[in-house]
Amino acid sequence: MNQLKQAIREQGRVLSSDVLKVDSFLNHQIDVDLMMSVGEEFARRFQTDSITKVLTIESSGIAPSMTAARDLKASLVFARKKKSLTMSSDVFVSQVYSFTKQETNDITVSKDFLTENDRVLIIDDFLANGQAAFGLIDIVQQAGAKVVGLGIVIEKSFQDGRQQLEDQGYRVESLARIHSLEKGQVTFVDELQLSNI
Ligand code: 5GP
Repeated sequence: MNQLKQAIREQGRVLSSDVLKVDSFLNHQIDVDLMMSVGEEFARRFQTDSITKVLTIESSGIAPSMTAARDLKASLVFARKKKSLTMSSDVFVSQVYSFTKQETNDITVSKDFLTENDRVLIIDDFLANGQAAFGLIDIVQQAGAKVVGLGIVIEKSFQDGRQQLEDQGYRVESLARIHSLEKGQVTFVDELQLSNI
């Protein structure tokens, strides 16, 4: 997705060789136009998969999931990182180690919003080592529902999340794949392939 790659190139800040900050369009301020296009692209890629639910994790996964859910005519459910007081005890719970916060949190989804009949597309803002993705997969499995695939806005391909997910048979669709953040520079996987021709 060129529009997304351009935003990463122009607005992304490389904080270290493994962390990219994209606060100006995805993680704090939201570029609504761009998120609409991101959601449309996810929907295009999964349009024949009879998705009934898009599942993401609060808060940064919600914006890119909305258009996808609308276009797929599916509901959008987000896992909560903190259990709400109004949430009953009837929840699916999984543990997720946060790559950026370096702490483990319980994530919860009400049993009311995920059932064994659901075909689920999991969407998240970043894929690093796959902890968030596997936490969400665990919740879908607890519900007896089917994980149809994963939609990732920004994949850091130098970390092993994609490999782990593919090794377990999951389909991963990432809209921007970063090969490296070395020397403060973002290099995309497809640029690398082009420069090798
Ligand atoms: P994983 O669970 O795959 O190891 O990491 C993915 C999660 O960590 C995402 O939900 C995202 O919130 C966060 N994350 C991982 N790497 C980055 C990064 O480079 N930048 C930002 N902003 N978030 C990241």
